[in-house]
Formats: sequence, C-alpha cells, structure tokens
Amino acid sequence: MENIKPLILVVEDQKINRDILNHILKNEYNIIEAENGAEALDIFSKTENISAILLDINMPVMDGYTFLSEMNSKSKASVPVIAVTASKDSESEQKVLELGAWDYISKPYIPQVLLARLKNVIIRTKFYLIDKMKHIYEHDLLTDLYQRTVFFSESQKLINNNDEKFALIRLDVDDFHLLNSFWGEHEGDRFLCFIADEIRKLAESVYPAVYGRINADIFGICMPFNDTALESIRIMSENIRNYKSDYLIKPSSGIYIIDDKSIKIETMYEYATLAAKDCKSKFNENICYYKPEMQKNVILEQSIINEMQSALNERQFEVFLQPKYNLETETPYGAEALVRWRHPQKGLISPGVFIPVFERNGFIGKIDYYMWESVCKLLRQWLDEGKNPAPVSVNVSRVNMYNPNLVELFTELIRKYNLPPNLLNLELTESAYMQEPDLMKKTVNALQNAGFTVMMDDFGSGYSSLNTLKDIHVDVLKIDMKFLSKDSSGERGKCILTSMIRMAGWLGVPVIMEGAETLEQINFLKSIGCEYVQGYYFAKPMPVNEYVSLVSNKPKYVAKSNSENHDVVFESIWSDNPSFNLIFNSFKSPAAIYEQKNDSFRAIKMNSSFNDMFGFGKIPLDSEKKFKSLLSPEDFEKVIDSFRNTAKTRNESSCNYVVSYGGSNFKVNLNLQYWGKNQKSSIIFAVFNLKSASNDD
Ligand code: C2E
Ligand code: MG
Ligand code: MG
Repeated sequence: MENIKPLILVVEDQKINRDILNHILKNEYNIIEAENGAEALDIFSKTENISAILLDINMPVMDGYTFLSEMNSKSKASVPVIAVTASKDSESEQKVLELGAWDYISKPYIPQVLLARLKNVIIRTKFYLIDKMKHIYEHDLLTDLYQRTVFFSESQKLINNNDEKFALIRLDVDDFHLLNSFWGEHEGDRFLCFIADEIRKLAESVYPAVYGRINADIFGICMPFNDTALESIRIMSENIRNYKSDYLIKPSSGIYIIDDKSIKIETMYEYATLAAKDCKSKFNENICYYKPEMQKNVILEQSIINEMQSALNERQFEVFLQPKYNLETETPYGAEALVRWRHPQKGLISPGVFIPVFERNGFIGKIDYYMWESVCKLLRQWLDEGKNPAPVSVNVSRVNMYNPNLVELFTELIRKYNLPPNLLNLELTESAYMQEPDLMKKTVNALQNAGFTVMMDDFGSGYSSLNTLKDIHVDVLKIDMKFLSKDSSGERGKCILTSMIRMAGWLGVPVIMEGAETLEQINFLKSIGCEYVQGYYFAKPMPVNEYVSLVSNKPKYVAKSNSENHDVVFESIWSDNPSFNLIFNSFKSPAAIYEQKNDSFRAIKMNSSFNDMFGFGKIPLDSEKKFKSLLSPEDFEKVIDSFRNTAKTRNESSCNYVVSYGGSNFKVNLNLQYWGKNQKSSIIFAVFNLKSASNDD
C-alpha cells in the first residue's frame, strides 16, 4: 500500500511562488493551496489532517499575521506554521514567532533548507502532541492540578527522595454539593479553581510539595511538615473560608503526618481522610490530625451501619430520661429524652458512639422520629393513667431541622396521640442556627405558632453569640456544659457563664444549665441566678420506670418545709408546676392546700379528687364560708381549731366531722399538715378522708 504523504497547506498569493513550492515539495508531500489568509482559514477549518502550513506574510485580503492570530484563536495550535518572510526582515520574524509560528524561512526558497525545516516542525508536532496528551491524562481538566493517580505517584516519589518530615493532607469543603446547588455549577467550578489557586500558593510557601484534585471538591497535598507549614495551612483554610462572606464555608483538612514511609501512599490518604471526617464532626474545627484509634472507629462505624436498620426494627433503641431540676426547689421539672442503644451483645451503647454516624449517613432522621413518637406514646400513657406529666423534650438533629415538613411531622404526632403541644418540647442544636439563620428563624416561628416550646441546645458550643437570640426567639436556652469547669480554676468559663445567664435574663429567656456535676457548681449556678439544671449532680439519664418513680416520690420541698427555717418555695405551689401537679393529683383522697391567716383560711390549690368530689368552682376561695354552710356549728369549730392548732404547733393535727353534701351525709377525717410560712400566712396541707356515707343523721 502506498504510503500516505503528509498534507501541507501552502498559503501564497503569487502563482509563481506556489508553483515553485509545489515543485520543491511534491515528492514528499501532498499540497493544498490558498491564495490569501481568508481562503487559508476556510480550508484550515474544513480540513482535518493538515501536517504543516507554509504561510506567506504579505498577501492581499488577509495577511499572514491576521491568519496566525485567527488560527490560534481556533485552538488548532498543534498544527505547525512556518512563516515566509522577506529576506533579513528581523522585525517580521519576531512578530510571526510571537503570533505562534513555529519557525520562519525567508525568500528566495532554498529547497534543502525548506524541506529540512518542514521535516523538523512535523516531528516536533508529534512530540508536542504526545506532551499535550500526557498533560491531559495527568491533570484535572477544571483546575489543571494533578489527577488522583498522578498525585499519589508523585507524592510517593517526593517522600522517597527527601529526608524531611512530610504530611499528607486531604482537603475538602463540607456540604460542597449544597453550595454548588445554591450558586449554580458555574460558580461552583470557579470556587474549585479558587481552592486550587490557594493550594498552589500554599505549595509555593512550603516547597517542595505535590498537590492534586482527588475528585469533586476533594484535594490532596503532600508537603514538608513543620510549624510554618501548619501556619500556611491555616492561612489557606481561612482564605477558603472567606471566599464568600455571606455563605458559611467550612473547609476540613485531615492531616496524616508521615512517620512511616513504608506505608502505601493510598493508605496514608485513607488516614488523612479519617482525620478529615473527624474534622467534619466538629463544628468549629478546620484542621484535624490522624490518630491510630480512628481506625478502630472505622470498624465500629461499619458495624453500626450494618446493624442500625435491624436494631430499629427490633426496637433496640430505648428512651432514657434525664430530669431537669429547678435549682430553687431542687425538684425535677420535666426531662430530656436521650436515646440509648440496648445492643444484644454489646450492652448499652451511648449516643456519642452512634449519633455522629447516623448524622453522617442520614439514618438520624429515622432515629429522631422513633424517639419523638416513643415520647409521645409515653406522655399519652401517663395522661391515660391520670398523671399530670411534666413536659419532655426531644432532640431534633441538624439533618431534620432542614426538613421542610418538620412542623407537620410534629403536629401530626401530637394529633395522633392527642397531646397538648406544650408537653413535647423541642431541642434544636445551636450549630444549625448558625448555618441557616433565616431558615431556622422560620422553622422556630412555625413550631412556636403550632404551640411547641423550642429550646436552643448546646448554646455556646459553636459560634453563636447572644445576638442570635435577638433574631431567633427561642423559648429556653440550654447552655453547653463546656462552660462549667470541674474545679474552681475555670474563671473565664465562669465569667462567660455569668454574662450569658444575665443577658438571657434581660431577654427574658429561661436558662437550663447542662452538665452540672458537683455541689460547688450547683452553688455557683445558684449564686448567678441560674434557674434550671440538667446534670449528674441531681440525676443521670435513667430508664423510664426509674424516672416515673423519681417524680412520683414526695417532692423534697415537703420534707424541707417541716424544718424550722420555713423556706418553703411557694412559687412551686402557685405556679403551674407540672411535676408538683403530678404528685398532688396522684393522691387518691381529696386534698387541698390552704393558706391560713388570722384565724381565716382559704383553699389556694385543690387536687383532682377534691374537684371531682366537690365539683369545680363549688368550693370558692373563701372556703371558710362554704365550710360554715355545710357543717354544724360544733363541727365547724372543730375544723377551725384544727387549723389553728396546726399553724401554732407547726405540726400535724386531725379532726372528724360530718358534712352534708348532695343530699347525703359524709363522715370526714380531716388531716392537716403544716408546710411552712409565706409572709404572714401559714401554708397547710389538708387531706379529706371520706370515712363513710349515711343518711341517718
Ligand atoms: P445533648 O442533647 O446536649 O444531651 C445532653 C448530654 O449531656 C447527654 O449525653 C447527657 O447524658 C449529658 N450529660 C448530662 N448531664 C451531664 C453531666 O453532669 N456531666 C456530663 N459529663 N454529661 C452530662 P448523651 O445522652 O450521651 O447524649 C449526647 C448527645 O447525643 C446529646 O447531647 C444529643 O446531642 C445527642 N442525642 C442523644 N439522644 C438523641 C436523640 O434522640 N436524637 C438526637 N438527634 N440526638 C440525640
Ligand atoms: Mg439535647
Ligand atoms: Mg445539650
């Protein structure tokens, strides 16, 4: 088969010159002719296999210079051009080279020289094309950084050929896909190029370094590691973070410091990836180091992922309740539901182990809902049992807070279990407020409008300032436990805590302090006016039945009130304290709390049995008169005497009397118990035991 000759485009306006060239070239090349730049461009754009162009400079219609610049803009730069200039015209020689010509020759043509130069440029094109293909193969198209495999092999070479201490870094941006969808792909690409430039800058400052784009928004850097290097990483991180001030951009750099060069580079990269994951779980950290225990966590994480769905199906997740305590009365007021995994082999697993995994893989949505529904069932059960339960709060994970159906999910749940919404309190973690302030504002408002109490959980753990509180009106603030130091040394924490509680007070937002463990902390919290505490000092999270018996026991303030110092906290009686109501209403017999002042007494709070017995509103507050109308004068005197006696002795007394009610006579055994003093009046607790009913009086 005949060898196909390379095709040369001859651009020359003079026929005679074209003929000369034809004559010189025809043995080795095929020739295609153009009379000026414009015609040449047309041919060039339509013809695929041109090996080289011989270009005259001075031509009518379109000269050689214009042709060169037009041709380059059409990006077929791999086709070499030899410009033909007038003899000894160094100015135009320079110009054609600048415009991208590969070589030049001058007229008149010397056939051997022309053939040699043509041969040369055609050979050079082959090398050029090979180089170009190599570059494309090795580099990422968007950022022009090394692609994954080349990054790995170049990093390996770098580490092997240097004695310094190196680190392998994996960098990416949290939730990049979200940014990409907010901004659009074009802007997303620009951001990736910006990151690539930041990495180039970093690499220049820490020479020698190798870097590349692993895929999507993930980049790798292999560089010497020392204090200056760390500082450079910080600066890069900060620049990426500040790319757009109105978006929360969180870069995460996982660093593996290479102490064993024999480890495969891919494994080193996996270590850096583990460190980066650790970074993602920490809201305000951008740089994390690999630690060997992270590998164990991978195995653990995998087993969690394998087992989570069946564990949910088999109801291995359990509600634990941690009571919240009123600091003034030191009595429980409601609780927080915290999930526990009762694993058949591994025992009780705490949420710190599995919640971060679920947050990463989205399973948290299911667990949250399971917990919410379990708590609704519990509240329903307590209400059905005639208890007057205090609110229970549930955690709403960040993933769920972005769920557009969140409000409907909750309203649907309380409708299904027929619950008043104020019994189910919602804890929304602070970091979510920071990430999406406007969305959170809307969600919080909608939840509050639906009647729910919204608590900001872990306040102070992230970036938020009290300013956030002015924008987002939460009902309760739960302050993160990190401000409570275990000893008296944490002065800074104390100062911050004091001002937080004071400012929350000014804004009228009640505060629950998390994680109080010691008496010292409790005393400190009392001294700065903190109202509620949830911490091991009072109670750890406990199974539901333990919580029920805890709140069903006599509240501490009953016992305390019998002491001489009369420090009964009467607010608990008057305010609608649900735990107090729960206990009060659990008495089978009618019971009431009386205030006795100067020989007169009035009921200030009655329990459900009392109301059932006597009817709502039937015993007005001036119950003395009512008593008088129902009792014989002698019996009434006995009752008055008993009240006087109780107040005087600050003890207990009792009396029996007969009361006519609804056409029947009842024998009543009245037991009175002194509870304490409130300013000038005594507070007396009265239980009415109905002995029998008879019509014979
Ligand atoms: P959180 O919502 O801030 O819950 C308070 C955590 O502090 C609980 O940890 C509780 O046991 C712990 N704690 C309370 N008092 C003390 C104390 O005095 N000292 C110390 N050291 N710790 C105390 P727990 O139960 O391990 O839960 C940890 C976190 O896991 C919770 O923090 C919450 O963010 C998450 N979590 C727990 N259950 C759920 C759930 O059902 N759904 C979601 N989304 N997250 C949950
Ligand atoms: Mg919570
Ligand atoms: Mg918390």
